[in-house]
Amino acid sequence: MASPVFDHSKVTVVFVLGGPGAGKGTQCAYLVDDFGFCHLSAGDLLRAEQHREGSEFGQLIQTCIKEGTIVPMEVTIKLLENAMSAALKEGRAGDGWKEGRGRFLVDGFPRKMDQALKFDDEVCMASAVLFFSTTEEVMLSRLLERGKTSGREDDNAESIKKRFSTSLPLNFRVKTYTPQLGRVIEIDSSPAVETVHARAKEAVGKLLPLCKQADHQTRSWI
Ligand code: ADP
Ligand code: AMP
Repeated sequence: MASPVFDHSKVTVVFVLGGPGAGKGTQCAYLVDDFGFCHLSAGDLLRAEQHREGSEFGQLIQTCIKEGTIVPMEVTIKLLENAMSAALKEGRAGDGWKEGRGRFLVDGFPRKMDQALKFDDEVCMASAVLFFSTTEEVMLSRLLERGKTSGREDDNAESIKKRFSTSLPLNFRVKTYTPQLGRVIEIDSSPAVETVHARAKEAVGKLLPLCKQADHQTRSWI
């Protein structure tokens, strides 16, 4: 089998998981400032591709997003790989880019085990997982509030319900299947933004040195 595009001893990938509205994007913005990550949101990349002129996937992505279903992984993984290449080339993924080093927060991906395995095999072996957890009630109220200004066509009660039914069990399975517990951190994202941020910052500060260790030779998934 061909090796991954990026060498995980140089490129650190932290998957950021959690249900819709759990606060992934909000916390990633802070962690970018704290640690110099490049933040890549699978949902944002898909929305950009949906509106890109000439995209062969525009219609398919639009339907999936509206219905809250999973976009075929080949599309999402290719978008992530392209975005990682561009960020490394342009020096947007932290210090060390001239030696091909970089660090990424990959937000909203993977949503299924097959996505995790394909990404590990073909793009870059992930180093760690940050999991933001809260209740559906909290997420619903945040998303309805966000919907007042986000302009997103899936921040409405009907789409949110569908998104809960596809994203939550799948995210949960991903978490369950991750055996390297030292590199899987669950953070309760119910409290205020600042509280969650303080916890996330502390956790990532401890995590990053572990990601650099040479013994990180095995995938995080079974
Ligand atoms: P996700 O990326 O997981 O879908 P967002 O980061 O976009 O979620 O957050 C969803 C909404 O909730 C946003 O409007 C955001 O401002 C708000 N939000 C995020 N974290 C918190 C928090 N800890 N407390 C209250 N509101 C929050
Ligand atoms: P999000 O911005 O994370 O709320 O995602 C919005 C929508 O994009 C989801 O409801 C899915 O339709 C799609 N999507 C986001 N991430 C993925 C992914 N990893 N795999 C497939 N589809 C995704």
